[in-house]
Amino acid sequence: MRGTRHGGVRSLMGYPAAEEPEPFAAWDRAVSRPPREAILYIHIPYCRSRCSFCPFYRGSADEREWREYAALLEKELRQTASLFAGTVISTVYFGGGTPSDLPPGAIRRLLRTLKSCYRLANDCEITLESRIDGFDEERIAAALENGVNRFSLGVQTFDTDLRRALGRTSDRETVLKLIELLTGAGQASVAADILYGLPGQTPKMLLNDLDTAVKGTALSGISFYRLHLHEKLPLAGKIRQGLMPALPGEEECFELFSLAEDRLEEAGAKRISFKHFSLHPRERDLHNELSAWKSPCIPFGIGAGGRIGVWRFGQAGEFDLYRRLTEEGRKPLASAGRFPADHAAGARIAGQLNCRMNCDPEYTASAAPEELREKVRKNLETALSGLAAKGFFHPPRFGAYRLTRRGRFQCGAVASELMECAARAWEQ
Ligand code: SF4
Repeated sequence: MRGTRHGGVRSLMGYPAAEEPEPFAAWDRAVSRPPREAILYIHIPYCRSRCSFCPFYRGSADEREWREYAALLEKELRQTASLFAGTVISTVYFGGGTPSDLPPGAIRRLLRTLKSCYRLANDCEITLESRIDGFDEERIAAALENGVNRFSLGVQTFDTDLRRALGRTSDRETVLKLIELLTGAGQASVAADILYGLPGQTPKMLLNDLDTAVKGTALSGISFYRLHLHEKLPLAGKIRQGLMPALPGEEECFELFSLAEDRLEEAGAKRISFKHFSLHPRERDLHNELSAWKSPCIPFGIGAGGRIGVWRFGQAGEFDLYRRLTEEGRKPLASAGRFPADHAAGARIAGQLNCRMNCDPEYTASAAPEELREKVRKNLETALSGLAAKGFFHPPRFGAYRLTRRGRFQCGAVASELMECAARAWEQ
């Protein structure tokens, strides 16, 4: 992998972009040609307490702060709507932070604003990311009665001791009760995040988690992630002090990953992406799938990120700036960047690896201008056969290289390498 002149490395999660000194001018240019279809991301930054492994924690909020933030979000949604009057919204994702901590009245108002101001697709997927504690019946009813049709639950593990060690206050029984409440309503897909590579997590503990999810609940999906721990986080400190066992090493993690793939396959789970499994036909995980293909994304809320056309946008991360710009009737932007010309090819690589778990050099190259297609195809062909020789891909069939298990385990690094190789066609 190597850096780029746009700063940063091309990856599944992000793409480098040359900084635009005038974010508002870039926004005006972007919305002058609004996309026909887009996804919408609404960021809720607060959490009631910190999970010791989490890099996203930004503090908690009291009742007055929750109300003020929700009112600003509503204002931002209304102010932005006219710019996207002709855009069909395929998915709405309330992410965080803890969206399930929004007061019930705010959940109701935000959802009604969305419905009245935006052109939601008939099958629009509306996801609310939820934490276990604090998501009570009133909040759940406010969400379900106003269009939420998917919950993404941060379970991480059902093991009570491990949950407590991670700073999660709720125990196994509470998690199961909440899942029952959500699935019992029969109105929404309910997917749970399960982590592997946790400190002290044995294969038996992971199997227990997967068996609980598959056999002991009516969950519709599982997102299966590896824990990547930043050294400055509280959990890393505990491990350094010897208060927690060390994280499993690379090969131990690969074994956990393999075990989980086998177990979920055996249980008949349908794979939607390299880290997401559907247990019920209702579960589509459409937002993440469209994100993987780097579809246009309209951002809302403090610190939210989005992209439209060749631009990426970052919203104000500080509350005072967010409030001032929103009250002035402006999009609360803090930064913008212009993606390099290889972005469309990179998006194809990310989409294929994420959702199809393969890469077809010819299909990828067809996203490039005609005069560069052959170079992109050749660069990818060379990179893919090298990665196949190292065991990350199977030999090609019908033109596409399919990820092996090792490739799926290392999908992030594989994606970066392929994106950087494709991008070199623009420099040669
Ligand atoms: S609830 Fe989610 S976002 Fe908040 S600290 Fe825990 S893991 Fe992080």
